[in-house]
Amino acid sequence: MVWRERDRGMGGPEAAGGPADGLYGLPAAAFALRLQEAATLDELGALARGCTRCGLRGGCRGVVFGEGDPRAGLCLIGEGPGATEDEQGRPFVGKAGELLDRILAAAGFRRDQVYISNVVLCRPPGNRTPEPAEIAACRPYLLRRLQLLRPSILVLLGATPLHAMVDPRASIGAERGRWRRQDGLWVLPTYHPAYLLRAPERKKEVWEDFQMIRELHRRLFGWPSEEAAAAREAPAGPAGAPDEGG
Ligand code: SF4
Repeated sequence: MVWRERDRGMGGPEAAGGPADGLYGLPAAAFALRLQEAATLDELGALARGCTRCGLRGGCRGVVFGEGDPRAGLCLIGEGPGATEDEQGRPFVGKAGELLDRILAAAGFRRDQVYISNVVLCRPPGNRTPEPAEIAACRPYLLRRLQLLRPSILVLLGATPLHAMVDPRASIGAERGRWRRQDGLWVLPTYHPAYLLRAPERKKEVWEDFQMIRELHRRLFGWPSEEAAAAREAPAGPAGAPDEGG
């Protein structure tokens, strides 16, 4: 999905061409009910592009909805768009995104074979962590996306999606690499690629997590094989493999 010129508007739903019936001011439960009327990801994306439910919309260029295979069994959720994502209108396209691509490739997945999105769809100023109220405002989109996508495996990249989806008090350090069953999904928290750029010594753990993800995906869907993963490894070697040195 490419960021479009009409998303540049900083005004309300009217300015962005969205509904002007007070939809975005509804309380969370009522808003979530209205989102049930979005029968496809495209319809949900259209609603999101007009959204003004929280202050983040006023400080970003546009909504970064998500991309990938809508029928993928594997869905990855990060925190929120950064500067490059905001510019391009695509999730995970900066340095952290490049690292995520390498991690996926080393586990045998192409980026277009999974679905990637974020907890909040608009860039927080200065790439700060989204505030609880912003996460709560955007959470109905996240839940509706998951209802429409129906993935089997949900990977939570970092503390923010862990807090949004599992427990606001949970520690990513404690939960990383621990599978849980939730609402029929296999859920695995792991570190965010942006954190790995700051703490490359943690790559090995994420590499191990993605080996587990590959194994579960193979059990559920029959692919990718270890051979496919090896064939897709980045020339520099598997991201986070012990010999990569960060
Ligand atoms: S971050 Fe989410 S809730 Fe806030 S304005 Fe953007 S789409 Fe709406």
